[in-house]
Amino acid sequence: MAGIAIDGPAGAGKSTIAKKVAKELDFVYVDTGALYRAIAHYLVTNKIDIEKDEVLSKACEEITVAIEYENSVQQVYLNGENVTPYLRTEETGNMASKSSAKAPVRAALLDLQRDMAKQYNVVMDGRDIGTNVLPDAEVKIYLTASSKERAGRRYKELVEKGEKSDFDRIEADIIERDERDMNRAIAPLKQAEDAVLVDSSDMGIDEVVDTILSIVRDRIQ
Ligand code: C5P
Repeated sequence: MAGIAIDGPAGAGKSTIAKKVAKELDFVYVDTGALYRAIAHYLVTNKIDIEKDEVLSKACEEITVAIEYENSVQQVYLNGENVTPYLRTEETGNMASKSSAKAPVRAALLDLQRDMAKQYNVVMDGRDIGTNVLPDAEVKIYLTASSKERAGRRYKELVEKGEKSDFDRIEADIIERDERDMNRAIAPLKQAEDAVLVDSSDMGIDEVVDTILSIVRDRIQ
């Protein structure tokens, strides 16, 4: 089985790019952020105080997260319930950003991610895939863009959906999430030594996809 790890900060376009790369290669796309969001959804709905270690550990013991595919689209199951529709909210994203720094949360998801890569050829996106989850991945990409560019893309997305949004607030939120991901003690976000840096600030989606595909083809095909 072959593994392609795509890591990078929030809003760098990882999921859009990883999905397209997976489709081109006929690999399975694994969105690991959605797994952290599923746990966050549980923590929010059950009002778990994540700063209380014992409470959080007990909650994590009660959680089973599983991945299924419906028409090739990832669905995340939390204790048997498909929670995919609830994962993209602001509240879940905020909780995921905070709770993903906690050891029991990360431990609860490690085997699931590694098992996926044992069963399938995967394109897996996240924060610690190349450094921690799949240290032997055949290809590692660190996909980033400036915080202005990432905030601009998110702003445009919200405006297109007809939602009110504030550019400065979005950028501040992105910077805050980066800080948390990069400075946590366990599996922080960083470029793996053997990862290829792709800065998409001045690149279109197709250009980024082609760049990654050519790196993949050099290494594994
Ligand atoms: O990528 P996405 O925004 O869906 O991820 C939600 C949160 O989960 C992130 O803010 C990040 O803190 C965390 N995460 C992580 N490790 C991963 C994937 C996501 O810590 N591999």
